[in-house]
Amino acid sequence: MSLTSAIVALAVGVILPVLLSTSLGIVRLASGAKSEDIVFGVLVLSFAAAAFGSAIVVTVLLGKRARVARLQADFTANISHELRTPLASIRMYAQTLQMGRLDGDPKRTKESLEIILRETEWLEAMIDRVLAWRAAAGDREQPEMEIGSMRVAVESAVARFERMVAPGEVDLSVTIECDTPVLHDADGIGSLLLNLLINAYKYSGSDKRIAVTLEDTGEHVELSVKDNGIGIPEDRVGRIFDPFYQIDPGSRGGSSGVGLGLAIVRHQARSHSGEVYVESEEGVGSRFSVRLPHSIAEKIEE
Ligand code: ADP
Repeated sequence: MSLTSAIVALAVGVILPVLLSTSLGIVRLASGAKSEDIVFGVLVLSFAAAAFGSAIVVTVLLGKRARVARLQADFTANISHELRTPLASIRMYAQTLQMGRLDGDPKRTKESLEIILRETEWLEAMIDRVLAWRAAAGDREQPEMEIGSMRVAVESAVARFERMVAPGEVDLSVTIECDTPVLHDADGIGSLLLNLLINAYKYSGSDKRIAVTLEDTGEHVELSVKDNGIGIPEDRVGRIFDPFYQIDPGSRGGSSGVGLGLAIVRHQARSHSGEVYVESEEGVGSRFSVRLPHSIAEKIEE
C-alpha cells in the first residue's frame, strides 16, 4: 500500500466513526436528563475528539514522509541526469581518441582533450554541490574563518568557472573594487560564487554576458553576479532559495539541476552573518547580490 493510499484510508476510516460517535454524544447530552446520560455523552465526545486529534497527527506525519520520499526520488533522478550528461560527453570524446580517429589532426585532438577537461570540471562542480549541501544540512561544516579581503576567494572561483566553459563562450567581466577585510571562509565564499556563476551560465541564452563585482557599499561588502539570462518570474522569487525548489525543471535553459545551488548560496551567506538578495526581470536578466558585514577588526580600528 502506498503512503498516499494509507493517508486516504486513515482519513476515511477515522472520519466516519468520529462523526457517528460525535452525533451519538451530542444526542445523549441533549436528550439526557439523567447524570449517566451526561457522563456518557461527555465520554463519547472526548473519545471522538481524541481519535480525531490522533488521526490528524498521524496524517500530518505520513504526509511529511510521503513528501520526503518524493523529494528523494526526484533528487536521485535529477542528480543521475546531471552526472550522466558530462559523463556521456567524456566517454564519446575519449572513445574517439582511443579509436585513433583524430590521429594526424592535432588541432581536433587538442579540442577533444579540452572538452574532456571541461566536462570533468562540471562533474566535479556537481559533486561539490551535493557535498556542500550535505555538509550544510548536517551542520557538519567547520569553516575556517579568517579576516581579510575576499579577492583571492573571488578570483579562484572565477578561475574555476573559466575552466568549465569554452573559450569565448561567455563574456565574463570581473570587477574587484575593494579589499575591505571581511571575516570569511575562502572555500565557502568560493562555493557560493561558483554556484551563482553556474546558474548565470545555465539560465542564459547563447549570448551569455555575466558580470561579477566585489565592492564596498559603505554599509556592507557586496559580492554580486549579474546575467542577461531568462530571469525569474516575480511570483517565484520568494521560493528559489528553498532546498530542492526548481522552477519548471527541464524547460528553463534545458537544464534539469537538482535545486540545491541557491540553497547553498543562502546557507553560505547566512553562515557569514550576511544575506542574499535578487533582482530579476523575465527576459532581461537577474542580479544576485550577497551582502556581508565589514569585519569587526576593521570597526575597532576606525
Ligand atoms: P537548480 O539546480 O535548479 O539550478 P538552484 O537552487 O540553483 O537549483 O535554483 C533554483 C531555481 O531558480 C532554478 O530552478 C532556476 O529556475 C532559478 N534560477 C536560479 N538562478 C537563476 C538565474 N541566474 N536566472 C534565472 N533563473 C535562475
